[in-house]
Amino acid sequence: MSSFEDLCGDPWQDHYFEGPNHPQANLWLDQIHADQRKEATMTDTSMFDIVRRVTAQLNTINGTGREEVGLRILKVTEEAGEAASAWIGTIGQNPRKGVTHTRDDVAAELADVVLTALVAIGSLGLDPEQVVGDCITKVAARFPADTPVCVAAGNSAAEANHRDSR
Ligand SMILES: [Mg+2]
Repeated sequence: MSSFEDLCGDPWQDHYFEGPNHPQANLWLDQIHADQRKEATMTDTSMFDIVRRVTAQLNTINGTGREEVGLRILKVTEEAGEAASAWIGTIGQNPRKGVTHTRDDVAAELADVVLTALVAIGSLGLDPEQVVGDCITKVAARFPADTPVCVAAGNSAAEANHRDSR
C-alpha cells in the first residue's frame, strides 16, 4: 500500500488539514480504497473482517474523536441518499436527467449503506458482528421458521403492481 507520504508529501504540512475535499486527500483516499479492494480480493472473505480493517484504517487516519465518530454515522445517511438518488435514477423522475441508474446500482448503494453502518457501529467501540447478531436474534424471535406469510387485504404483490402501473 502506498503511504500517505508517497501520495501527499508531508502529512503535517498545512494542506493536510484543508478538509475532506482537498484533492490530495481525495487522491490518497482513492488509493486506499483501491488497495483495500485489492487486498480484500486477495486475502479476506469475511465481511466483518473487512469492516474491522476499514474501521482500524479510519481510526489510524482520522482518529477516534467524537466528531469523527459522528461523521461516520452521518456517512450512513450520505450513502442512503445515494441509494435514494439511484432509485430516482431508475425511474427517470427528473426529466432533465432521464433514466440514469439500474436496480443493480440501487442495490450497490444499499450495500454501501450496510458497510458504512457496520463501520459506524465498530467506530462506537462495539463489535459489529455481535451487534448485528443480536439484532438478527431479536428479529428471528418475531419470525419463527414456521411463520405463515400473511398478506392484508389490498397489500398483495399483484395488487401493489396494479397500483404502481396506474
Ligand atoms: Mg455509495
